[in-house]
Amino acid sequence: MSKLNELTIEEAAKQLRARELTVRELWDACEAAARAKNPELNAYLEIFDADEVAITAAQERIDAGDASLLCGIPLAIKDNILIEGKLASAASVMLKNYTATYDATVITKLKEAGALFVGRTNMDEFAMGSSTEHSAFGPTKNPHDTSRVPGGSSGGSAAAVAGNLAIAALGSDTGGSIRQPAALTGLVGLKPTYGAVSRSGLIALGSSLDQIGPLAKSVADAHLLYTAIKGSDARDATSIPDSLYPAKEVRKVMRIGVPRHLLTEGVDKDVNAAFTALLEKLSDAGHTIVDVELPTSAHALAAYYVIMPAEVSTNLARLDGIRYGHAMQGATLLDDYIDSRTEGFGKETRRRVLLGTFVLSSGYIDAYYKKADAARSVLRAEYDTAFESVDVIAFPTTPSPAFTFGEKSDPLSMYLGDIFTITANLTGMPAISIPMGTVEREGKQLPVGIHFTAPHQAEEILFAIGASVEKVR
Ligand code: GLN
Repeated sequence: MSKLNELTIEEAAKQLRARELTVRELWDACEAAARAKNPELNAYLEIFDADEVAITAAQERIDAGDASLLCGIPLAIKDNILIEGKLASAASVMLKNYTATYDATVITKLKEAGALFVGRTNMDEFAMGSSTEHSAFGPTKNPHDTSRVPGGSSGGSAAAVAGNLAIAALGSDTGGSIRQPAALTGLVGLKPTYGAVSRSGLIALGSSLDQIGPLAKSVADAHLLYTAIKGSDARDATSIPDSLYPAKEVRKVMRIGVPRHLLTEGVDKDVNAAFTALLEKLSDAGHTIVDVELPTSAHALAAYYVIMPAEVSTNLARLDGIRYGHAMQGATLLDDYIDSRTEGFGKETRRRVLLGTFVLSSGYIDAYYKKADAARSVLRAEYDTAFESVDVIAFPTTPSPAFTFGEKSDPLSMYLGDIFTITANLTGMPAISIPMGTVEREGKQLPVGIHFTAPHQAEEILFAIGASVEKVR
């Protein structure tokens, strides 16, 4: 039998209801594992003390026959999601003393479901990065090989779940920050349809791209968490009603579109081989593999790295050392701004603010930002067309498994690793990463993931194909 902290949500919920386990025992197991393993992994920036009131309340609800399967489940929360009364630093010096004054909508929903919070997890500063090396509070290590990154930016949430320091977690995804760390740590990660989950209480990065979503040990757990946090919200004007988009049929046998033209150079041979092998198994299980052409994908990365920094530069403008956040006193007001932002922001954040300010400046907005925005529309149209003949589109989540610390110190090489995940954020479509096996590096088996995109609000299709993958792999 697995240790309590190794359980999935489903398993823990079942044992709690069968009286084989108490909420207290489950919490204690997770907290103890978190405290024991965090010094090595640095998955959490803070581990919370047991919330006795919440633990007792959760137990009472279960004893009374509560139906919420998240009741009493210890979760890890990314440090850019506000929990009232707790620090929320987005792993930045700028916000290192910022205490949240309200709950993010997802937190309100999880509290209503009776979930417990183990702590706030490490991340790349403001969620910019793919390795968690850009945290102001030191990198997080991958539980599968501590000489390697867990991915990012939700690397802390991924390491917390993969290392069994929590049962499941929430992350945020602007260009892959849930799916990529999920792939590199052997988890399921879902980026919901844009607007499906409220962004109220998420520290904004790229407002037209950001979504909160689950990192979990199984598709069923990701499904449970997603169902608990989704829904339109008066506090987020961009959140959408449940059936804004036409409903899509969830077929037993799916047509899986594969853009083979994207699987060429830049993707590790053994990652491609694992992907092809899994497709074969899916085909043996009855699904159909269809070639699709998505020519504009070649420009997706460029479009993302214009639009995303543009939104970053506007969202982070408020952190000026005057209103809140890290404040420095200079000789003039301008010095106040410059000193506060130079000290408060790390290198990657400053790089993106500069880039974003440039592409939005009056001389360059047409050449860069507006072109990128046009490319975004074309991409979305291409995907919409592809979905007329396929149910999902598949590729590997990442071109390679987890890399070593410092290996991608050149920012461009880091950005290139986002090639497969960013498009779902640009199109607003939901996407999921599911473990597809391992590849070997330096004698270690490292997890890699398969990535599926579905039409807007067709998350159920992703969960269905995810369940198929779990069955055949
Ligand atoms: N790695 C991507 C970036 O650095 C995605 C980040 C994210 O999804 N938050 O922009």
